[in-house]
Amino acid sequence: MCRNDPEVTESVNTINGPWCPLLPMELIDRLIKKGRYRLVDGEWEKFCPRCSDWWPADTEFFHPFKPYGLQYVCKACEAEMAGRDSASKAMVRMQQHAA
Ligand SMILES: [Zn+2]
Repeated sequence: MCRNDPEVTESVNTINGPWCPLLPMELIDRLIKKGRYRLVDGEWEKFCPRCSDWWPADTEFFHPFKPYGLQYVCKACEAEMAGRDSASKAMVRMQQHAA
C-alpha cells in the first residue's frame, strides 16, 4: 500500500512508480549500500535492524520520518519499544547515530 506524501515533491516519483515515501535517488543509493533498502520484484523493501526482517518500504509498515522518509525500525518494533521508556530513548540515539 503506497500513499503519497503531499509534502514531498513529485520530482523523484519516476524511480519505480509510486511508492512511499519519496526519497532522492542518491539517498536510496546510500541506503542500499548500507543494506537498509532493496528492490524485490519491483517493490522497495526496508530492513528493520531490530527484528532483522525486511518489510515493504511504505507507511503501512513504517512511520514517516524525515528526512529519511521512514522510521528506522518497523511499526511493530516501534510499538514494542515505546512501551519501555529506556528503550525508546535508545531508539532516538540509534536514529541520531544512523543520521
Ligand atoms: Zn521490526
